[in-house]
Amino acid sequence: MDNRIIYLDHAATTPVKPEVLEEMLPYFTNKFGNASSIYSIGRESKKAIEEARERVAKALGAMPREIFFTGSGSEADNWAIKGVAYANKAKGNHIITTAIEHHAVLHTCQYLESDGFEVTYLPVDENGLVSPEQVRKAIKPSTTLITIMFANNEIGTIQPIAEIGKIAKEHNIYFHTDAVQAVGNIPINVNELNVDLLSLSAHKFYGPKGVGALYIRKGVKITNFLHGGAQERGRRASTENVAGIVGLGKAIELATNNIEQYNKKLIELRDRTIEEITKKVPFVKLNGDRYKRLPGNVNFSFQFIEGESLLLMLDMKGIAASSGSACTSGSLDPSHVLLAIGLDHETAHGSLRITFGEENTHEDVDYLMEVLPAIVQRLREMSPLYEKVKRGN
Ligand SMILES: *Cc1c(COP(=O)(O)O)cnc(C)c1O
Repeated sequence: MDNRIIYLDHAATTPVKPEVLEEMLPYFTNKFGNASSIYSIGRESKKAIEEARERVAKALGAMPREIFFTGSGSEADNWAIKGVAYANKAKGNHIITTAIEHHAVLHTCQYLESDGFEVTYLPVDENGLVSPEQVRKAIKPSTTLITIMFANNEIGTIQPIAEIGKIAKEHNIYFHTDAVQAVGNIPINVNELNVDLLSLSAHKFYGPKGVGALYIRKGVKITNFLHGGAQERGRRASTENVAGIVGLGKAIELATNNIEQYNKKLIELRDRTIEEITKKVPFVKLNGDRYKRLPGNVNFSFQFIEGESLLLMLDMKGIAASSGSACTSGSLDPSHVLLAIGLDHETAHGSLRITFGEENTHEDVDYLMEVLPAIVQRLREMSPLYEKVKRGN
């Protein structure tokens, strides 16, 4: 990476670790065989895929045959939700989710609504938490699926997944969680949590882009996702992305083996940044739960300024951050997550997300805190609203 850039956007994507790349490389060149072929370089690819499947299963406390590789986290979300909805249509047409899901979940649910399904979008509290009691109350005889994200990509809030899993199990309803932000940051065991389906994506934990996985508990009724060859036990046809899958396997193993040390470091950077911004910049609000939050996530609203201008000025100083989710930047609609936790449009527009990762250090925080308060001040000097507040009317 260009070392003049301080990258503070790990929730958007992460760089591939050198050890991960090294394991992937042979599968682009001399080990290029099709995993469905029976000669030796084909069998080698097949073996590499199955090893990666074992690594993913181990990281989640699942069985290898319950892991299915996909083309992304978004694909895993689409498959889980549409797959369960359609396969269980005879039983019911109701799905429960939340207002703060990633668009891969929200837009899939909206699509299903256009096809005759009924979806309940549960509200969240001011910290972005879903109440398990509300989940219980939303259940109807026609409910077939609960889909609630593990941790939010914008504000970092971690949901009470075990409690929700317990409720789903008591009611015999399938429970899917989008764990794309959680894997590598939070230890996960699908059996302890009573999760039936779980989505993950390699590029969020130092693996390659364009490869993900869906955990499907044995026995879950779900439609096949892609029709064609017999890959992924006939459920998701396509010649496998062998190198990508190998990279995902290596990355998840590294991430889960090192989770405690990694978290300790990120929490230090996070907490220091939260403290210093709160102390040095007036008129700010921390978004998301102060403690039930991803180790590397900082999300603040700065009153009287535009998040986009803040990002551009940080970029000029060599800092890459985000003003919400990467998928919505470029659009003028404020983040649906920030609106759901009760921010008004203006406050939601003035938000900044900083997500720390592997390469970040305390020097990065020093530099951020050297430039950020001055930028905020400069932008506020241009705001007529701020002038009014300063004058006290
Ligand atoms: C990044 C992300 C996704 C999408 O994963 P892709 O592999 O980029 O398609 C889904 N959900 C959450 C919470 C994410 O952060």
